[in-house]
Amino acid sequence: MFDTPVRAGGKPAKHWFDLEPAARIAAVSALGLPAYRARQVSNHVFGRYEYQPDQWSDLPLAARESLANLFPPLLTAAQELSADRGMTVKTAWRIAGDAVVESVLMRYPNRTTVCISSQAGCGMACPFCATGQGGLQRSLSTAEIVAQVADAAAKLAQGAVAGGPGQVNNVVFMGMGEPLANYAPVMAAVRELIRPKPDGFGISARGVTISTVGLVPRIAALAAEELPLTLAVSLHAPDDELRDELIPVNQRWKVGELLDAAWDYARVTKRRVSIEYALIRDINDQQARADLLARELKRRGDWTWAHVNLIPLNPTPGSKWTASRKRDQQTFIDRLERAGIPVTLRDTRGRNIDAACGQLAALQR
Ligand code: SAH
Repeated sequence: MFDTPVRAGGKPAKHWFDLEPAARIAAVSALGLPAYRARQVSNHVFGRYEYQPDQWSDLPLAARESLANLFPPLLTAAQELSADRGMTVKTAWRIAGDAVVESVLMRYPNRTTVCISSQAGCGMACPFCATGQGGLQRSLSTAEIVAQVADAAAKLAQGAVAGGPGQVNNVVFMGMGEPLANYAPVMAAVRELIRPKPDGFGISARGVTISTVGLVPRIAALAAEELPLTLAVSLHAPDDELRDELIPVNQRWKVGELLDAAWDYARVTKRRVSIEYALIRDINDQQARADLLARELKRRGDWTWAHVNLIPLNPTPGSKWTASRKRDQQTFIDRLERAGIPVTLRDTRGRNIDAACGQLAALQR
């Protein structure tokens, strides 16, 4: 799907995926078609993952031709790589304006996760992250975000991914970009992903994770949406001195403010927040930092509002940093566990195809 060339220019044309259900009816009417066509179209799109009007044989040819105006090409597959015996698939997509974004599909024994991009490049400039090195090219539209999931859903439904026919269970905004820096399009995309079929993809809100460097006012806005989405905070250091260096936006919003905002999010949504922590050898993996992290999490309430995800650093080209020694990693885990903090060591799916956390980067670079 989405395999025709994009038009020139930096912005994608409006697409069905950009429209709320009422706006779809209006758009169909504006084409001179009866309103019930909107329902038919959505049945094809969200019910059967058919995104090309020429596939909809129950609609008259003339209607399909005019509806094609609402289905402009969004994503053109530039490269597809697979790993883990086909259970991990990374796709590099060319988008309008000649930028490239990537998404990664990961199949596990009992669920399938799609990791998607919210921006081409990223403006947050974290020195250990591949995407952070090239700056921001542009933010994605709602439709460009949704289309990454739509493509994965179609491939899974058709049995085109190793492991047999399946569906998308989880969507994580952990690809390229800072989702909370592209707030309105990201939220419109989220609403479409979780809206029940046939007006949306019917993915569980609990299965959607928004990962952020810590734009504190936007975390508050997210809490106010009152959706049970999962929030992931890319903390990586429990102290401002180190975090100022690892996550430059920390110079604006400090660790304390960020954890307060995350705690509020957990309190309001009753969802446990994921604290992401990439272990970097001799930089943030000391026992004292594990203890400080535990203290910072615990002093905000003794119930387990946070879950720590430790990620072995995926070294990016030219970086002076590398993953922690095994014994330091184990000590870090032990210290957190001893303090009663739930902790998981994340696997490094797709590392050999540069599809692991923090490795997603535009192809041209
Ligand atoms: N901008 C958002 C989402 C994109 S990154 C955010 O920062 O949360 C998804 C996760 O990968 C983040 O937790 C990020 O800190 C982490 N990450 C980035 N570079 C990494 C690397 N080289 N190794 C391991 N994790 C990395």
